[in-house]
Amino acid sequence: MWARLLHVALAAPAAALLAGLSGPVARAQAPDRPPAPIVVAIDPGHGGSANPHNPSQLFDPGCIGVNGVEEKDVTLDVGKRLASLLGRDDVRAVLTRTTDEYLTIAQREQTAIGSRAAFFVSIHVNSFRDPSVGGSLVLYPNAAALPFAQTLSDALGRELRQDAVADSGVQLRDNWWIHAPMPTSTVEMAYLTNPHEAALMATGGFRQQVAAAIRDGIEAFDPQIATRRAEIGAWRARHPSAPAAPTRRAHRGMVAAPLEPARSILPTVVFWMTVVCAILVVLRWPRVAIWLVVTMITLLMRMLQRAFIHRRALRRRRRALARQAGRPVRQHSVYDELWL
Ligand SMILES: [Zn+2]
Repeated sequence: MWARLLHVALAAPAAALLAGLSGPVARAQAPDRPPAPIVVAIDPGHGGSANPHNPSQLFDPGCIGVNGVEEKDVTLDVGKRLASLLGRDDVRAVLTRTTDEYLTIAQREQTAIGSRAAFFVSIHVNSFRDPSVGGSLVLYPNAAALPFAQTLSDALGRELRQDAVADSGVQLRDNWWIHAPMPTSTVEMAYLTNPHEAALMATGGFRQQVAAAIRDGIEAFDPQIATRRAEIGAWRARHPSAPAAPTRRAHRGMVAAPLEPARSILPTVVFWMTVVCAILVVLRWPRVAIWLVVTMITLLMRMLQRAFIHRRALRRRRRALARQAGRPVRQHSVYDELWL
């Protein structure tokens, strides 16, 4: 009886495995797939405006320049310019925001992680009480990100020298973006409290220079970008009727792309092996099976409970912030959260 059961249980995955193994052969003969573009996540810092109809709604303009320019607008414009420049080089740019909206640090980081970005660049503008202080500075969260930060800083230094913006190098800021697994940096392009630099940041020309410098830094750091671009170009030449690359336009979150990666047979095999193991466990050790199910349900309940408690705490914190502020709501920087 056991032999027969085993035979029945194994027949399905064996068939799936055979189908899977025959897959690559079929794929090898099929027309080649387009190479997947490299993904770069871009985070335009700050964002959101006061809503008179909803005083509890959070907003965060960042620093405000001596000329009235707001950080959130500069960062968004530079972010969009950078996305467009990267798109021209067949890099898929994923922006954490494309409009004037408030986002938490966790949401921004999650967009970068969720998009499986190879690199993450957060764009900011600096400020200081002394208006004579200026320069471009790149912050990095850990030692692993230092080479990336240094390459970005070098590119900014080279590009902005012509505008008399000093190169202030790199600085460790180990409470920013500490959960991002990819090389990550925060670019503080210049100071809005410095009249010369604030005037520069009001111009499209300077913003374009900053975007170009960041693009140059990213591409200098990863030669794979040039290689991939050549591969995508070669693929397009072989498929002249294929739709244009989606990377030329950047959106928040993953960009809808006809360039999809090859599918793997691994999930099918793993799924069927799990099913077989589950059947065998239930038949052979019913008690163990019941224990496993109960444990899994308990763990799931605990996770749900924790998520619920976290949400409630967040809501309480937002209400407290709104109460503190009176009306309109105090300018709350999303970066306050980093200092908790
Ligand atoms: Zn900022």
